[in-house]
Amino acid sequence: MSVPPIQVAIAPVTPLQQNCTIVWCTKTMKAAIIDPGGEVERLMKGLETYGVTLEKVLITHGHMDHAGAAAAIRDLTGVPIEGPHPDDQFWIDRIEASGKQYGIPEARSFTPDRWLYDGDVVTLGETRFEVVHCPGHTPGHVIFFHREARFAQVGDVLFKGSIGRTDFPRGNFNDLIEAISTKLWPLGDDVSFVPGHGPMSTLGFERKTNPYVSDIALGTTRSEPTEDLAPRYS
Ligand SMILES: [Zn+2]
Ligand SMILES: [Zn+2]
Repeated sequence: MSVPPIQVAIAPVTPLQQNCTIVWCTKTMKAAIIDPGGEVERLMKGLETYGVTLEKVLITHGHMDHAGAAAAIRDLTGVPIEGPHPDDQFWIDRIEASGKQYGIPEARSFTPDRWLYDGDVVTLGETRFEVVHCPGHTPGHVIFFHREARFAQVGDVLFKGSIGRTDFPRGNFNDLIEAISTKLWPLGDDVSFVPGHGPMSTLGFERKTNPYVSDIALGTTRSEPTEDLAPRYS
């Protein structure tokens, strides 16, 4: 059996049980932490446990539970922060205030070393993730897609059986539905994804069963998928 190009370990963080992941290039053992909302020490221990070297922090969107510990990790390790899209700067600026509100006083605002845009590529060791801009939950939300591994981290765009909230400032329900149906679905039914909260799923399973965005819910028709829809990473 060939070695998969990436490995993924999920570490829920903060009282909001946000799915932070440590993902690494199996060839180089270079790792990224995606969406570190908090619990820096535990994440550093995780890197040690897996024997990987941190190369960067990736952020899907500017909410405190996803990005609150990015600044602390950059200070501690010197690695750059990449993402989200610049339309989320106003959320990043609010991180400290939301941290106080949710009992995470160490959460801090920051300026990313690199803002991300639709179609960008993020490298990790010798492998790469594609960046897809999916506004709606927040205006600057991006997702990270690894084409070869059929894996995506989608933040609060899509959940197993649900979709992201759009009742926040500058949230937009129609934008979210459009992003899911025109940008996520084309990635393929067989793509396993880590949502921002809760269990993993596949795009195909959600397209079939999700009460908000299934083909039936959206009134779209297409031929039946035949692939195995079980999540490949759990
Ligand atoms: Zn969010
Ligand atoms: Zn969240």
